[in-house]
Amino acid sequence: MNLWRLKRRPVGDIADGDLAYVSEPIPELQDGEFLVRVNYLSLDPTNRIWMSDMEQYMPPVGLGEPMRGGVVGRIVKSRKPGWEEGQLVAGLGAWADHIVTDGTGMSMMPEIPGISIPNAFGTFGVVGPTAYFGLLDIGQPKAGETLVVSAAAGGVGQIVGQIGKLKGCHVIGIAGGPEKCRYIVEELGFDAAIDHKAEDVGAALDRLAPDGVDINFEQVGGPIMSAVVSRMKHFGRMPLCGMISTYNATSAEEEPGRWTLILMRRLTIRGFIVTDFAHRFPEAVQQLAGWMLEGKLKTRQDIRPGLARADEWVKLLYSGGNFGKLLVEVTPE
Ligand code: NDP
Repeated sequence: MNLWRLKRRPVGDIADGDLAYVSEPIPELQDGEFLVRVNYLSLDPTNRIWMSDMEQYMPPVGLGEPMRGGVVGRIVKSRKPGWEEGQLVAGLGAWADHIVTDGTGMSMMPEIPGISIPNAFGTFGVVGPTAYFGLLDIGQPKAGETLVVSAAAGGVGQIVGQIGKLKGCHVIGIAGGPEKCRYIVEELGFDAAIDHKAEDVGAALDRLAPDGVDINFEQVGGPIMSAVVSRMKHFGRMPLCGMISTYNATSAEEEPGRWTLILMRRLTIRGFIVTDFAHRFPEAVQQLAGWMLEGKLKTRQDIRPGLARADEWVKLLYSGGNFGKLLVEVTPE
């Protein structure tokens, strides 16, 4: 089997040699274990967090250990009753083409007619529930409110904006480049887009949301977050989903975040990790799948070929080189 192991913790951007691609024999199956042939690997911004030893929400990947990642694939051999050959499973695994597991962190993945495996995995795996619970439970959107979402054309952002529209919000997405901005407005139905690579985000918000912002679905941090927070209305809400602009930072120094304004305007900000809602995932998947089948929710996956190039593909997340939920095709279905 082929897999990636973490060799050393990156300093700044992920560099050649931080990860090592190795071939190893598939371990012998023990009772209670099964073997999965991986079809798709999910690459996520949090991969860079797991490679570091900063304070985080689960243990970092240990040096020398297989690199952790979300996977979907079929069971090809099983010594665990109830987990049968041919069953599609998904969950937390490794950057590998085969995985031997006792099933911890894995679940059976329902196959929904009309939704392909990469679309289902790239939507319902992590990013869909993140958008669903972050926006609905924490953002509390109401019809007529103004919602701003950063990293708007990415895995989570594309879904946040569409749920916002389904709830009657005026949705403004912030994304990098004209093609991503065109996509979220023309194909996903956002009301407006701000190209953070070409425009001053604050000036664009003053034009597009002159009365202010009710909900900031924050995914980026830094100056983009400050520009949005400065324009929030009193009692606004800010689901704090991610801070991707800081993940490759070399110092632990925190960006100034308009925290005084947050106090004065009594904004609600709640950091969340999607696994806080794990017990309610079926609800999110059912609702998201329903919207997809009714044609009300579209998602775009950015599928790159070859596990051997995963270390290269993961860097796209931090440069904006991915367009949609980033997946690696490990083994064709
Ligand atoms: P995306 O598909 O959105 O990919 C990341 C995107 O972030 C890039 O394409 C780029 O988009 C944007 N970006 C990267 N660096 C910067 C920067 N310095 N400034 C501005 N934009 C930047 O990834 P996901 O949808 O998977 O994740 C989005 C965010 O949500 C991340 O912060 C992630 O950590 C977080 N997240 C949190 C979860 C939770 O449980 N709390 C679960 C899942 C994700 P562009 O080209 O438009 O700039």
